[in-house]
Formats: sequence, C-alpha cells, structure tokens
Amino acid sequence: MEQRLTTLKREGRAAASVTALIESLRANLPLGVLITHDRMRSRDRRCVAEVRHGVCGGCHLALAVGNVAAVRHGDLHRCGNCGRYLFIVEDEPAAAVPASAAARSFRPSPAESARLRQML
Ligand SMILES: [Zn+2]
Repeated sequence: MEQRLTTLKREGRAAASVTALIESLRANLPLGVLITHDRMRSRDRRCVAEVRHGVCGGCHLALAVGNVAAVRHGDLHRCGNCGRYLFIVEDEPAAAVPASAAARSFRPSPAESARLRQML
C-alpha cells in the first residue's frame, strides 16, 4: 500500500511537471498556431505530420515540391489537404527522389549543359 502511495505521488509530480512544460511551450507559440492546434485536437486529430519522401504523413498525399522545400528551409507550413503542420524527418536524405524520377525531371540549362559537356 505504501509503495502504491509513493508511486501515485511520483506520478502526480510527473504530471505537474508535464503540465508546466506544456504551458511553457504554448506560451512561445503564435496565437494562430494555438487556435489551429486546439481546434484540431478538439476533433481528436493530430495537428502535425512528418514529411517523408515528399508525402504528408497525415493524409498520405504528395506535397508540392515548393511546399517541401519551404518546410525543409524551416518555414512553418501546413499541408494543403489535411491542414496539419508539417515537419521534415531529420534523418531523411535531401535527395529522396528515386534516381529514375530524378533523371526524368532533370533538365539542365544551356549553361549547365555546356559545363556538363566539359566535365565528360
Ligand atoms: Zn496532409
């Protein structure tokens, strides 16, 4: 019984410290972000999603390349489909496009073509 009481006290302290941490983090967020977060949480939805290989982890739809670049640059950006705030997974390599797709979409400018020819 005493051990259970000690455990409950420890959990109470942990919950209080977590609540204090949450409040301190919320104080640093812009009001618009907090409103969006609270609205999504009230609907039991996560308000953030990771981006892997250019795909939103929330709705699993491909994101525009410009949006992924903005998120990678550090801008606060939301998915155009599900509205979640996006973040890049740190261990994802920058060149996540498959080699075959990259080869199809690579079109060098005339100056780059000349430079590439000199390299060959
Ligand atoms: Zn999404």
